[in-house]
Amino acid sequence: MSEGVTRPAANGTDHQTASETNSEPTARKCVSCGQVKRLNEFAKDRSKHQGRRRTCAACRADDDRERDYIRRCHKYGHSPVVEPFTTQQLIERYGDRCFYCPTGNFECIDHLVCVRVGGHHTLDNVVPCCRDCNQRKRWEVDEVWIRAYRLLFEVAP
Ligand SMILES: [Zn+2]
Ligand SMILES: [Zn+2]
Repeated sequence: MSEGVTRPAANGTDHQTASETNSEPTARKCVSCGQVKRLNEFAKDRSKHQGRRRTCAACRADDDRERDYIRRCHKYGHSPVVEPFTTQQLIERYGDRCFYCPTGNFECIDHLVCVRVGGHHTLDNVVPCCRDCNQRKRWEVDEVWIRAYRLLFEVAP
C-alpha cells in the first residue's frame, strides 16, 4: 500500500452534515498543501492535536515518494535533483490513468529517465502508470538505459 497513490478528494465534496456538532471539527487545514480537507483524510496520530496528523494523506504520499527518490539516489551514487510536485499536478497534466497502456489505473509514478542512471524527481521526468507497466518498463526499457550507462561511465554492475 505504501507504493500506492492516495488521491486528493475532488473539490467541492466537503459537505458537512447537520448532525455534526460544532465542538468537534470535521475538517482541518493541511499544513503542507493548505487545503481544507475532511478529518478522515488525515492519518490518526494520538500524539497530535485532535489525534490526527497535521499533513493530509495525499501530501504525505507525495513526501514519501520524494524521500524514497532521495534514498535511491544515494544508493546509486547520484546527487538528488528534486522539484516538488503533487499527485494533483500529475493528474492535471496526464489524467488519472496509466500513461503507457489504455486500461491501467494511476497506481504509481514512473521516472522517464530512471533513477538508477540519474533521472530527476521533477514533473518533467515523471508520469502516472499502473503497476504492470511499471514492472514491464523496468525490464524492457530501464535495463537498456542502465546497460548503456554502465558502458559509458564504466561503472561496475
Ligand atoms: Zn495536504
Ligand atoms: Zn499501464
